[in-house]
Amino acid sequence: MAVFLGIPIALLLAVVIIFLVIRMEGQAPDMKLDMTSSYLGSSQTLSLEVSDAKSGIRQIWVAVFKNGKEFVLADKSYTAGGFIKGGQVKAQILKIEFDAKTSGLTDGKAMLRIRAMDYSWRQWGKGNTRYLEKEVLIDTRAPDIQILSRIHNLNQGGAALVAYKLSETCPSSGVMVGDQFYPGISGFFNDDNSFMTFIALNHNQGPKTTVHVMALDHAGNKGRASVAHHINARNFKRDTIKIYDRFLAAKMPEFQSEFAGSAELSGLDLFLKVNRDLRKKNYETIKQIVAEPDNDLHWKGVFARLPKSANRAGFAEHRTYTFRNKTIDEQTHLGVDLASLKKSPVPAANTGKVVFADSLGIYGRTVLIDHGFGLFSMYSHLSKIDVDKGQMVKKYDVIGNTGRSGLAGGDHLHFSMLVHHTFVNPLEWWDLQWINNNIAATIESVR
Ligand SMILES: [Zn+2]
Repeated sequence: MAVFLGIPIALLLAVVIIFLVIRMEGQAPDMKLDMTSSYLGSSQTLSLEVSDAKSGIRQIWVAVFKNGKEFVLADKSYTAGGFIKGGQVKAQILKIEFDAKTSGLTDGKAMLRIRAMDYSWRQWGKGNTRYLEKEVLIDTRAPDIQILSRIHNLNQGGAALVAYKLSETCPSSGVMVGDQFYPGISGFFNDDNSFMTFIALNHNQGPKTTVHVMALDHAGNKGRASVAHHINARNFKRDTIKIYDRFLAAKMPEFQSEFAGSAELSGLDLFLKVNRDLRKKNYETIKQIVAEPDNDLHWKGVFARLPKSANRAGFAEHRTYTFRNKTIDEQTHLGVDLASLKKSPVPAANTGKVVFADSLGIYGRTVLIDHGFGLFSMYSHLSKIDVDKGQMVKKYDVIGNTGRSGLAGGDHLHFSMLVHHTFVNPLEWWDLQWINNNIAATIESVR
């Protein structure tokens, strides 16, 4: 009889022991604070991830200490799940709001302290505790911006240079032209907090476009300074391009590989896909290529134009496409078309680094040269490419030959210039006086 009674007691004991071991576990909660820098700005949201898989979270407490004063940012208690289960919440992401004004904390060094406790029975039932301490710097002042350059004349579709100095180191700064951002690049002037930014006014941005420098410091404080400028409106030409059946028959087959199932499309439908969708897709590729320009000013003086060539189409020309006397599409031509002898050698417009040398949709065989600080030149419809990606080229080095690859009716060079992601009018860069007045003079006055 005693034997039979002993089994349930032993079982019960075993369950109690196992249970005690589980509920007495000694693992403190895991904690991950998402804070990219040690700066705390005037207002900021910190993300704190706490998890405790075994016993569940009991309490999370966050405070900032400065000059012996404590300011609690968060103090949260979590519900128990019952005698056996521990805490109900096993994982939690806390968004902690920091507002320097309401806390009354002043700028300077402070200590961020975080404590998380679980529902384990350890520490006489108080649970396991994890501490996290981080030295922080409270900074509520926006960076001060001093505009160093003085003359900012912008033509529609043209470029300018802005130089500015920041009162403190900022991870991000640059110039906003309307809604377009042009990043500031340091390293040209001796002082690390002095920046130079090539900016552009898109051909479709009007005379009322605002221009200002913005800077974001490590603590997330934003500084802003307007740039005094003058905008000249420009009238761009309009042109009509007639699309013929023989052009579609000759050109469209090479674009079939760009779109799945396009073999069934008519020549005209494929042309419209190429002229609209492929044009957009190619621009996205160009934007990626120019996204990280060299921090060296490679170029010098005026930019070279294809020798002995005639202008066939101008920058920002508005094109209406017709087919059998009907308007089928409209686009803007963001380069200059230059025609010379067939397969003419094409010189690099200035010194720089080849960042693209390959086929690119509507542009055909294309070379893109990075001249530094966000300035690029682009050569399209080539019949042959003589340079490789990564190669340095000097002004007048032959990079390839003109041709009619891509969406081109006849042999010509489509020449474009870009300031970061914006196509600009090459006429400015072919004009030494314009460069001297608008770029070189600015650099000299700041240096
Ligand atoms: Zn063109």
